[in-house]
Amino acid sequence: MIHERLDLLREALPYIQRFKNKVFVVKLSGKITEDQERLGSLAEEITLCQQVGISVAVIHGGGKQLTETAERLGISQRMVNGRRITDAETLEVAKMIFAGQINMDILSALRGKGAECVGLSGVDGNIIHARRREIQEVLNRETGQLETVDFGHVGDIVGINLRLLRLLLDNGYIPVVSSLGADEQGHIYNINADTIAAEIAVHLEAEKLILLTDVNGILRDKDDPASRISRLTVEEAEALVRDRVVSSGMLPKIAAIARLVRRGVRSAHIINGSNRNALLHEVFTDEGAGTMITL
Ligand code: ADP
Ligand code: MG
Repeated sequence: MIHERLDLLREALPYIQRFKNKVFVVKLSGKITEDQERLGSLAEEITLCQQVGISVAVIHGGGKQLTETAERLGISQRMVNGRRITDAETLEVAKMIFAGQINMDILSALRGKGAECVGLSGVDGNIIHARRREIQEVLNRETGQLETVDFGHVGDIVGINLRLLRLLLDNGYIPVVSSLGADEQGHIYNINADTIAAEIAVHLEAEKLILLTDVNGILRDKDDPASRISRLTVEEAEALVRDRVVSSGMLPKIAAIARLVRRGVRSAHIINGSNRNALLHEVFTDEGAGTMITL
């Protein structure tokens, strides 16, 4: 019994050696940060990765909490292709929820596991340089109709400044970045957290991008948790978009991952952060837990 438990440490050795000094970008969905126990468990896994020499950058969203709070305040919410139309009032709530509450909850959980972490948004240190998304014709994948959409205070990323992130990572801090960015005039934009995570991963030349969400990965039938697809190429993933197998919040993930692996990050993983050890499973075993997407 004791040998079995100690052998687990031996099994981790090749992975620890392979990933030492590599960068992992881990994106946490707001759906998995609400439950204290689950968040604490994830924070422990992240801290463990960091303690064995992996540089971990954490990016988070908070779409679920933003929707709930905005609706409670009577600000109705609308998504097109998994992206939020962000009016001025929604942006105000996004600032409170992303840069305030959720960021602090994650810091608190990591602090509780002994990690040294720093809370930021993409506005800090000019990490995310964004531009307002122009009013555009969009093929609404839910309705199949072309629509003219003004996304409001939604930004597209035009540049990444790594100086601050590198400073933190090189000094053993875990940066925790919420999904806001700004332009040169200082206008703040809401940006999908998957998109930010992928862009940061490309610039940091990350080994892996890991998106932790509330489903088991990409599902062939989104209502059947057992229909997980364990491996996909980018082209196969894009075919799932065309065939409408994926919808809503899975669309920005696939778009972000496609750009990412075409620009040199070896793999992206969509895994269920609600499952205990999901992250460790992904990092320290060959099987992998969710959906892995490669070139
Ligand atoms: P997150 O907070 O992780 O970004 P999103 O709601 O934006 O969460 O995106 C994940 C959601 O995408 C899932 O909860 C699921 O409802 C939806 N989805 C749509 N199509 C699929 C699919 N084929 N497989 C898995 N999830 C899907
Ligand atoms: Mg999302």
